[in-house]
Amino acid sequence: MTEYTPIYLDHMATTPIDPRVLDEMLPYMTLNFANAASKSHRAGQSARDAVERARQRVANLYGCEPLEVIFTSGATESNNLALKGLAESYPQKKHVLSSPIEHPSVLDTLDYLKTKGFQVELLKVDTLGNVNLDHLKSAIRPETLAVSIMAVNNEIGTLQDLEAIGQITRSQQAFFHCDVTQMFGKLPLDVNRAQIDLASCSAHKCHGPKGVGALFIRRKHPRVRLAPQLHGGGHERGYRSGTLNIPGVVGFGQACNIARSEMAKDEAHARLLAKMFLNVWGQTTLDFEILGHPIQRLPQNLNLHIPGVHIGKVLEAMPEVALSVGSACSAIKDRPSHVLRAIGKSFDEARSCLRIGFGRFNSLDEVESVAKRLAGLIQSAEEKGWTMQDSPHCEL
Ligand SMILES: *Cc1c(COP(=O)(O)O)cnc(C)c1O
Repeated sequence: MTEYTPIYLDHMATTPIDPRVLDEMLPYMTLNFANAASKSHRAGQSARDAVERARQRVANLYGCEPLEVIFTSGATESNNLALKGLAESYPQKKHVLSSPIEHPSVLDTLDYLKTKGFQVELLKVDTLGNVNLDHLKSAIRPETLAVSIMAVNNEIGTLQDLEAIGQITRSQQAFFHCDVTQMFGKLPLDVNRAQIDLASCSAHKCHGPKGVGALFIRRKHPRVRLAPQLHGGGHERGYRSGTLNIPGVVGFGQACNIARSEMAKDEAHARLLAKMFLNVWGQTTLDFEILGHPIQRLPQNLNLHIPGVHIGKVLEAMPEVALSVGSACSAIKDRPSHVLRAIGKSFDEARSCLRIGFGRFNSLDEVESVAKRLAGLIQSAEEKGWTMQDSPHCEL
Protein backbone atom coordinates (compact mmCIF):
# COMPACT_ATOMS: atom_id res chain seq x y z
CA MET A 1 0.00 0.00 0.00
CA THR A 2 1.26 3.45 -0.87
CA GLU A 3 1.75 5.85 2.03
CA TYR A 4 0.50 9.34 1.30
CA THR A 5 1.40 12.48 3.20
CA PRO A 6 -1.54 14.48 4.53
CA ILE A 7 -2.76 17.24 2.21
CA TYR A 8 -5.16 19.90 3.41
CA LEU A 9 -7.64 21.24 0.85
CA ASP A 10 -10.53 22.19 3.12
CA HIS A 11 -9.77 25.88 3.79
CA MET A 12 -13.45 26.94 3.80
CA ALA A 13 -13.83 24.89 7.01
CA THR A 14 -10.76 26.28 8.72
CA THR A 15 -7.17 27.29 7.94
CA PRO A 16 -3.83 26.56 9.62
CA ILE A 17 -2.30 29.33 11.74
CA ASP A 18 0.38 31.16 9.77
CA PRO A 19 3.73 30.65 11.62
CA ARG A 20 4.20 34.44 11.66
CA VAL A 21 0.89 34.68 13.54
CA LEU A 22 1.94 32.10 16.11
CA ASP A 23 5.23 33.97 16.69
CA GLU A 24 3.30 37.07 17.74
CA MET A 25 0.89 35.11 19.91
CA LEU A 26 3.33 33.11 22.03
CA PRO A 27 4.67 35.89 24.29
CA TYR A 28 1.08 36.74 25.21
CA MET A 29 0.63 33.24 26.64
CA THR A 30 3.72 33.35 28.83
CA LEU A 31 5.51 36.67 29.54
CA ASN A 32 2.68 39.10 28.76
CA PHE A 33 -0.25 37.27 30.27
CA ALA A 34 -1.89 40.24 31.98
CA ASN A 35 -5.59 41.04 31.75
CA ALA A 36 -6.25 43.95 29.40
CA ALA A 37 -8.90 45.14 31.84
CA SER A 38 -6.38 45.61 34.68
CA LYS A 39 -5.91 49.35 35.07
CA SER A 40 -3.56 49.45 38.08
CA HIS A 41 -0.32 48.15 36.57
CA ARG A 42 1.92 48.48 33.55
CA ALA A 43 1.40 44.85 32.49
CA GLY A 44 -2.30 45.54 32.02
CA GLN A 45 -1.47 48.63 29.97
CA SER A 46 0.81 46.61 27.72
CA ALA A 47 -1.96 44.04 27.13
CA ARG A 48 -4.35 46.91 26.34
CA ASP A 49 -1.87 48.35 23.83
CA ALA A 50 -1.60 44.97 22.12
CA VAL A 51 -5.40 44.68 21.89
CA GLU A 52 -5.71 48.18 20.43
CA ARG A 53 -3.00 47.49 17.85
CA ALA A 54 -4.91 44.35 16.83
CA ARG A 55 -8.18 46.28 16.71
CA GLN A 56 -6.61 48.78 14.30
CA ARG A 57 -5.40 45.93 12.07
CA VAL A 58 -8.84 44.31 11.97
CA ALA A 59 -10.41 47.72 11.25
CA ASN A 60 -8.04 48.16 8.30
CA LEU A 61 -9.49 45.05 6.65
CA TYR A 62 -13.08 46.15 7.29
CA GLY A 63 -12.28 49.67 6.08
CA CYS A 64 -13.70 51.15 9.30
CA GLU A 65 -12.62 52.94 12.48
CA PRO A 66 -11.10 50.85 15.31
CA LEU A 67 -13.87 52.05 17.63
CA GLU A 68 -16.33 50.25 15.37
CA VAL A 69 -14.72 46.83 15.97
CA ILE A 70 -15.42 44.56 18.92
CA PHE A 71 -13.80 41.20 19.54
CA THR A 72 -15.89 38.06 19.98
CA SER A 73 -15.23 34.31 20.07
CA GLY A 74 -15.86 33.94 16.32
CA ALA A 75 -18.35 34.48 13.55
CA THR A 76 -21.03 32.32 15.20
CA GLU A 77 -21.06 34.62 18.20
CA SER A 78 -20.85 37.75 16.02
CA ASN A 79 -23.85 36.61 13.97
CA ASN A 80 -25.84 35.85 17.13
CA LEU A 81 -24.93 39.19 18.72
CA ALA A 82 -25.71 41.17 15.57
CA LEU A 83 -29.14 39.66 14.96
CA LYS A 84 -30.37 39.17 18.53
CA GLY A 85 -28.82 42.47 19.59
CA LEU A 86 -30.70 44.35 16.86
CA ALA A 87 -33.92 42.48 17.57
CA GLU A 88 -33.84 43.54 21.22
CA SER A 89 -32.88 47.13 20.48
CA TYR A 90 -35.58 47.92 17.93
CA PRO A 91 -38.64 46.00 19.17
CA GLN A 92 -41.01 48.03 16.97
CA LYS A 93 -39.59 46.45 13.79
CA LYS A 94 -40.41 42.78 13.45
CA HIS A 95 -39.45 41.80 9.90
CA VAL A 96 -36.10 40.35 8.77
CA LEU A 97 -34.91 39.42 5.29
CA SER A 98 -32.18 36.89 4.64
CA SER A 99 -31.27 34.14 2.18
CA PRO A 100 -31.52 30.34 2.22
CA ILE A 101 -27.74 29.97 1.63
CA GLU A 102 -26.61 31.61 4.89
CA HIS A 103 -24.40 29.88 7.43
CA PRO A 104 -26.35 27.92 10.11
CA SER A 105 -25.28 30.50 12.72
CA VAL A 106 -27.47 33.01 10.85
CA LEU A 107 -30.31 30.67 9.83
CA ASP A 108 -30.67 29.09 13.27
CA THR A 109 -30.54 32.50 14.96
CA LEU A 110 -33.34 33.67 12.66
CA ASP A 111 -35.35 30.55 13.53
CA TYR A 112 -34.92 31.49 17.17
CA LEU A 113 -36.11 35.05 16.46
CA LYS A 114 -39.24 33.60 14.85
CA THR A 115 -40.15 32.14 18.24
CA LYS A 116 -39.89 35.71 19.63
CA GLY A 117 -42.46 37.08 17.20
CA PHE A 118 -40.27 38.02 14.24
CA GLN A 119 -41.28 37.39 10.68
CA VAL A 120 -38.36 36.06 8.65
CA GLU A 121 -38.41 35.89 4.85
CA LEU A 122 -35.72 34.14 2.83
CA LEU A 123 -35.04 35.71 -0.57
CA LYS A 124 -34.78 33.68 -3.76
CA VAL A 125 -31.35 32.72 -5.05
CA ASP A 126 -30.54 31.64 -8.60
CA THR A 127 -28.61 28.54 -9.69
CA LEU A 128 -25.29 30.43 -9.43
CA GLY A 129 -26.02 31.42 -5.84
CA ASN A 130 -26.90 35.08 -6.44
CA VAL A 131 -29.57 36.57 -4.19
CA ASN A 132 -32.42 37.93 -6.31
CA LEU A 133 -32.25 41.72 -5.91
CA ASP A 134 -35.69 42.32 -7.40
CA HIS A 135 -37.07 40.05 -4.71
CA LEU A 136 -35.17 42.10 -2.11
CA LYS A 137 -36.63 45.34 -3.52
CA SER A 138 -40.17 44.02 -3.44
CA ALA A 139 -39.93 42.30 -0.05
CA ILE A 140 -38.28 45.11 1.93
CA ARG A 141 -40.75 47.38 3.75
CA PRO A 142 -40.89 50.00 6.53
CA GLU A 143 -41.14 47.31 9.26
CA THR A 144 -37.99 45.58 7.96
CA LEU A 145 -35.46 45.68 10.77
CA ALA A 146 -32.55 44.05 8.96
CA VAL A 147 -31.34 42.41 5.81
CA SER A 148 -28.83 39.66 6.63
CA ILE A 149 -26.96 38.43 3.58
CA MET A 150 -23.50 36.90 3.52
CA ALA A 151 -20.69 38.29 1.36
CA VAL A 152 -19.19 35.03 0.05
CA ASN A 153 -20.84 31.65 0.38
CA ASN A 154 -18.71 29.09 2.23
CA GLU A 155 -19.75 26.18 0.00
CA ILE A 156 -19.94 27.49 -3.54
CA GLY A 157 -17.85 30.68 -3.27
CA THR A 158 -20.37 33.03 -4.89
CA LEU A 159 -19.77 36.71 -4.02
CA GLN A 160 -22.91 38.84 -3.67
CA ASP A 161 -23.29 42.35 -5.06
CA LEU A 162 -22.82 43.95 -1.65
CA GLU A 163 -23.06 47.55 -2.87
CA ALA A 164 -26.42 46.90 -4.53
CA ILE A 165 -27.77 45.16 -1.41
CA GLY A 166 -26.44 48.00 0.76
CA GLN A 167 -28.08 50.63 -1.38
CA ILE A 168 -31.51 48.97 -1.40
CA THR A 169 -31.33 48.27 2.34
CA ARG A 170 -30.21 51.78 3.32
CA SER A 171 -32.86 53.41 1.13
CA GLN A 172 -35.52 51.64 3.22
CA GLN A 173 -33.86 52.51 6.57
CA ALA A 174 -33.21 48.87 7.39
CA PHE A 175 -29.87 47.63 8.75
CA PHE A 176 -27.56 45.59 6.54
CA HIS A 177 -25.90 42.73 8.44
CA CYS A 178 -23.31 40.90 6.41
CA ASP A 179 -21.49 37.70 7.35
CA VAL A 180 -18.17 38.50 5.68
CA THR A 181 -16.31 35.53 7.20
CA GLN A 182 -15.25 33.94 3.91
CA MET A 183 -14.33 37.24 2.30
CA PHE A 184 -12.39 38.75 5.18
CA GLY A 185 -8.67 38.87 4.44
CA LYS A 186 -9.14 37.24 1.04
CA LEU A 187 -10.96 39.89 -1.02
CA PRO A 188 -10.94 43.67 -0.54
CA LEU A 189 -13.80 44.87 1.66
CA ASP A 190 -15.06 48.38 2.36
CA VAL A 191 -17.99 48.47 4.77
CA ASN A 192 -18.66 52.14 3.99
CA ARG A 193 -18.78 51.75 0.25
CA ALA A 194 -21.11 48.73 0.60
CA GLN A 195 -23.19 50.57 3.26
CA ILE A 196 -22.88 47.62 5.63
CA ASP A 197 -24.00 48.32 9.22
CA LEU A 198 -22.87 45.11 10.94
CA ALA A 199 -20.27 42.62 9.68
CA SER A 200 -19.19 39.32 11.26
CA CYS A 201 -15.89 37.55 10.75
CA SER A 202 -13.64 34.90 12.26
CA ALA A 203 -9.85 34.67 12.61
CA HIS A 204 -9.49 30.96 11.86
CA LYS A 205 -10.79 31.35 8.31
CA CYS A 206 -7.85 33.63 7.40
CA HIS A 207 -4.84 31.86 8.94
CA GLY A 208 -5.48 33.17 12.45
CA PRO A 209 -6.31 31.19 15.60
CA LYS A 210 -9.63 29.54 16.43
CA GLY A 211 -11.94 30.97 19.07
CA VAL A 212 -11.62 34.64 18.14
CA GLY A 213 -13.55 36.81 15.72
CA ALA A 214 -14.94 40.29 15.37
CA LEU A 215 -18.09 42.27 14.76
CA PHE A 216 -18.12 45.60 12.96
CA ILE A 217 -20.79 47.86 14.47
CA ARG A 218 -21.40 51.11 12.58
CA ARG A 219 -21.09 54.19 14.82
CA LYS A 220 -22.43 56.88 12.54
CA HIS A 221 -24.71 57.40 9.52
CA PRO A 222 -26.50 55.59 11.08
CA ARG A 223 -25.36 54.71 14.59
CA VAL A 224 -26.39 51.11 15.28
CA ARG A 225 -27.76 50.23 18.71
CA LEU A 226 -27.09 46.69 19.83
CA ALA A 227 -28.29 45.03 23.04
CA PRO A 228 -25.47 42.94 24.56
CA GLN A 229 -26.02 39.20 24.80
CA LEU A 230 -23.30 38.55 27.41
CA HIS A 231 -23.58 40.60 30.60
CA GLY A 232 -20.79 41.18 33.09
CA GLY A 233 -17.78 43.44 33.43
CA GLY A 234 -18.68 45.67 30.50
CA HIS A 235 -15.70 44.74 28.33
CA GLU A 236 -15.64 45.78 24.67
CA ARG A 237 -17.52 48.99 25.45
CA GLY A 238 -20.35 47.03 27.01
CA TYR A 239 -21.16 45.06 23.88
CA ARG A 240 -19.44 41.88 24.98
CA SER A 241 -18.43 41.21 28.57
CA GLY A 242 -15.74 38.70 29.42
CA THR A 243 -11.95 38.81 29.71
CA LEU A 244 -10.47 39.08 26.25
CA ASN A 245 -8.59 36.19 24.70
CA ILE A 246 -5.44 38.28 24.31
CA PRO A 247 -3.19 35.75 22.51
CA GLY A 248 -6.11 35.09 20.14
CA VAL A 249 -6.78 38.77 19.57
CA VAL A 250 -3.08 39.49 18.94
CA GLY A 251 -2.90 36.56 16.51
CA PHE A 252 -6.02 37.76 14.72
CA GLY A 253 -4.44 41.20 14.34
CA GLN A 254 -1.27 39.75 12.87
CA ALA A 255 -3.32 37.49 10.53
CA CYS A 256 -5.09 40.64 9.27
CA ASN A 257 -1.81 42.47 8.88
CA ILE A 258 -0.37 39.66 6.74
CA ALA A 259 -3.61 39.25 4.79
CA ARG A 260 -3.63 42.93 3.92
CA SER A 261 -0.12 42.94 2.50
CA GLU A 262 -0.38 39.52 0.82
CA MET A 263 -3.98 39.55 -0.41
CA ALA A 264 -3.11 40.00 -4.09
CA LYS A 265 -0.44 37.32 -3.89
CA ASP A 266 -2.75 34.86 -2.07
CA GLU A 267 -5.47 35.51 -4.61
CA ALA A 268 -3.19 34.92 -7.60
CA HIS A 269 -1.85 31.75 -5.96
CA ALA A 270 -5.38 30.41 -5.37
CA ARG A 271 -6.32 31.12 -8.99
CA LEU A 272 -3.29 29.20 -10.16
CA LEU A 273 -4.14 26.22 -7.94
CA ALA A 274 -7.75 26.11 -9.13
CA LYS A 275 -6.59 26.37 -12.75
CA MET A 276 -4.13 23.53 -12.22
CA PHE A 277 -6.86 21.33 -10.72
CA LEU A 278 -9.28 22.05 -13.56
CA ASN A 279 -6.57 21.53 -16.20
CA VAL A 280 -5.87 18.05 -14.84
CA TRP A 281 -9.55 17.15 -14.83
CA GLY A 282 -10.07 18.75 -18.24
CA GLN A 283 -7.59 16.28 -19.72
CA THR A 284 -9.64 13.32 -18.50
CA THR A 285 -13.00 12.01 -19.70
CA LEU A 286 -14.64 12.95 -16.38
CA ASP A 287 -18.07 14.50 -16.62
CA PHE A 288 -18.30 17.37 -14.14
CA GLU A 289 -19.95 20.74 -13.59
CA ILE A 290 -18.46 23.75 -11.78
CA LEU A 291 -20.87 25.24 -9.23
CA GLY A 292 -21.23 28.83 -8.07
CA HIS A 293 -20.64 32.02 -10.02
CA PRO A 294 -17.92 31.72 -12.69
CA ILE A 295 -16.51 35.23 -12.14
CA GLN A 296 -18.01 36.93 -9.07
CA ARG A 297 -16.47 34.43 -6.70
CA LEU A 298 -13.82 33.61 -4.13
CA PRO A 299 -10.80 32.18 -6.00
CA GLN A 300 -9.94 29.90 -3.04
CA ASN A 301 -13.16 27.90 -3.50
CA LEU A 302 -14.04 25.24 -6.04
CA ASN A 303 -17.22 23.18 -5.86
CA LEU A 304 -17.68 20.45 -8.43
CA HIS A 305 -20.70 18.30 -9.22
CA ILE A 306 -19.78 14.87 -10.57
CA PRO A 307 -23.12 13.37 -11.67
CA GLY A 308 -23.95 9.94 -10.28
CA VAL A 309 -20.87 9.60 -8.07
CA HIS A 310 -21.16 9.22 -4.30
CA ILE A 311 -18.42 11.65 -3.26
CA GLY A 312 -18.50 10.66 0.41
CA LYS A 313 -17.39 7.14 -0.54
CA VAL A 314 -14.66 8.41 -2.86
CA LEU A 315 -13.25 10.61 -0.09
CA GLU A 316 -13.26 7.67 2.33
CA ALA A 317 -10.75 6.02 -0.01
CA MET A 318 -8.26 8.89 0.47
CA PRO A 319 -8.63 9.90 4.13
CA GLU A 320 -5.21 11.59 4.27
CA VAL A 321 -6.51 14.27 1.90
CA ALA A 322 -8.82 16.81 3.56
CA LEU A 323 -11.68 17.63 1.19
CA SER A 324 -15.35 18.18 1.85
CA VAL A 325 -18.72 16.92 0.67
CA GLY A 326 -21.23 19.75 0.85
CA SER A 327 -20.82 21.75 4.01
CA ALA A 328 -18.69 20.76 7.00
CA CYS A 329 -21.31 22.29 9.25
CA SER A 330 -24.24 20.30 7.93
CA ALA A 331 -22.06 17.19 7.65
CA ILE A 332 -22.74 16.51 11.33
CA LYS A 333 -26.41 16.20 10.55
CA ASP A 334 -25.66 13.93 7.57
CA ARG A 335 -28.08 15.66 5.31
CA PRO A 336 -27.46 17.21 1.91
CA SER A 337 -26.23 20.76 2.07
CA HIS A 338 -28.99 23.39 2.33
CA VAL A 339 -26.91 25.61 0.03
CA LEU A 340 -26.78 23.06 -2.79
CA ARG A 341 -30.49 22.40 -2.34
CA ALA A 342 -31.17 26.15 -2.56
CA ILE A 343 -29.33 26.47 -5.88
CA GLY A 344 -31.51 23.74 -7.32
CA LYS A 345 -29.64 20.50 -6.70
CA SER A 346 -31.61 17.39 -5.68
CA PHE A 347 -30.67 15.37 -2.58
CA ASP A 348 -28.70 12.91 -4.66
CA GLU A 349 -26.99 15.59 -6.75
CA ALA A 350 -25.92 17.36 -3.57
CA ARG A 351 -24.20 14.17 -2.46
CA SER A 352 -22.28 14.12 -5.75
CA CYS A 353 -20.64 17.46 -5.02
CA LEU A 354 -17.07 18.00 -3.91
CA ARG A 355 -15.92 21.15 -2.13
CA ILE A 356 -12.27 22.15 -2.42
CA GLY A 357 -10.77 25.01 -0.42
CA PHE A 358 -7.31 26.19 -1.43
CA GLY A 359 -5.03 28.06 0.96
CA ARG A 360 -1.86 30.09 1.23
CA PHE A 361 0.37 27.08 1.93
CA ASN A 362 -0.86 24.65 -0.73
CA SER A 363 1.65 23.85 -3.46
CA LEU A 364 0.98 23.31 -7.15
CA ASP A 365 2.50 19.83 -6.84
CA GLU A 366 0.12 18.69 -4.12
CA VAL A 367 -2.91 20.05 -5.96
CA GLU A 368 -1.81 18.31 -9.15
CA SER A 369 -1.33 14.99 -7.38
CA VAL A 370 -4.70 15.20 -5.60
CA ALA A 371 -6.46 16.12 -8.85
CA LYS A 372 -4.94 13.07 -10.58
CA ARG A 373 -5.68 10.64 -7.75
CA LEU A 374 -9.24 11.89 -7.37
CA ALA A 375 -9.88 11.61 -11.10
CA GLY A 376 -8.60 8.02 -11.03
CA LEU A 377 -10.75 7.10 -8.03
CA ILE A 378 -13.85 8.68 -9.55
CA GLN A 379 -13.26 6.87 -12.82
CA SER A 380 -13.32 3.60 -10.91
CA ALA A 381 -16.49 4.57 -9.03
CA GLU A 382 -18.72 2.23 -10.97
CA GLU A 383 -16.64 -0.91 -10.39
CA LYS A 384 -16.10 0.01 -6.71
CA GLY A 385 -19.82 0.58 -6.09
CA TRP A 386 -19.42 4.28 -5.32
CA THR A 387 -22.32 5.47 -7.46
CA MET A 388 -25.63 6.87 -6.32
CA GLN A 389 -27.41 3.70 -7.56
CA ASP A 390 -25.39 1.72 -5.01
CA SER A 391 -26.41 3.99 -2.15
CA PRO A 392 -29.67 3.95 -0.26
CA HIS A 393 -31.71 7.05 -0.92
CA CYS A 394 -31.18 9.79 1.58
CA GLU A 395 -34.34 10.75 3.44
CA LEU A 396 -34.63 13.95 5.36
C1 LIG B 1 -16.94 29.41 9.44
C2 LIG B 1 -18.06 30.32 9.21
C3 LIG B 1 -18.83 30.82 10.26
C4 LIG B 1 -18.60 30.39 11.71
O1 LIG B 1 -17.38 30.84 12.21
P1 LIG B 1 -16.88 30.34 13.63
O2 LIG B 1 -15.71 31.19 13.93
O3 LIG B 1 -16.50 28.92 13.47
O4 LIG B 1 -17.97 30.54 14.61
C5 LIG B 1 -19.84 31.70 9.98
N1 LIG B 1 -20.10 32.08 8.72
C6 LIG B 1 -19.40 31.62 7.67
C7 LIG B 1 -19.73 32.09 6.29
C8 LIG B 1 -18.35 30.73 7.87
O5 LIG B 1 -17.67 30.26 6.83
